[in-house]
Amino acid sequence: MQKINLKAQLASLVQLQKIDTEIYSLRYEKEAKPEEIKALEAAFEEKKQALTTLEKASLDLQKQKKERELELGSKEEEVKKLQTQLYSLKTNKEYQTMLQQIGSVKADISVIEDKILILIDQVDKAKAEIEREKQGLQEEEKVLNLKKKDIHDRIKEIEDRISQLDSQRKQITPNIDDKVLGQYERILTNRDGLAIVTVKDNSCQGCNMFVPPQVINEIKMYERIVTCEVCNRILYIDGEITL
Ligand SMILES: [Zn+2]
Repeated sequence: MQKINLKAQLASLVQLQKIDTEIYSLRYEKEAKPEEIKALEAAFEEKKQALTTLEKASLDLQKQKKERELELGSKEEEVKKLQTQLYSLKTNKEYQTMLQQIGSVKADISVIEDKILILIDQVDKAKAEIEREKQGLQEEEKVLNLKKKDIHDRIKEIEDRISQLDSQRKQITPNIDDKVLGQYERILTNRDGLAIVTVKDNSCQGCNMFVPPQVINEIKMYERIVTCEVCNRILYIDGEITL
């Protein structure tokens, strides 16, 4: 009675293990999802930050341009003022000096005008680059949202599959003694989702360590649950258990 019973229970545990193996793998997959989303969002934030940096640089160029334009205005004023003074001068020497002064301010103006032209070009380029980046970012955001949706869909799929597996589990667990089930579940938790394994060529398929012949004999007696001396997992002999 006990023998048949234990063998049948081992068969149920093997079935349970199949389900639990899938549940563990699904749980691992699900647990990794928030990190995946975080990584995608972080990459997107970095691109947004790069755009902000470009916008700041563009504003700085515009500010420089405005400053140069103000400087140009005041230099032009200065030339006008000097030119009106030119007619009130009495000597030729004073006149020549003033002309030189005007020439020097005009040279300054020419330098400032060149700088303004360069700045105009830089501002235009910066604006075009910002526009490109903005469009790129819009595309990126669409892709990001699609990827996030895929991840959320997959999470939902995993959850549905896990609840399906849970109900399959509930059909098997009544066939197992509470004590045996408790032992199985403890090992399952402690051994990363693998609680029952076969013995193949005298080695435990959970930890690959040697299983002595007397232990194998003990398994075949089906009088008690036999566990691996090294990894503590429940052992069974493939082919002896019919599912
Ligand atoms: Zn082992």
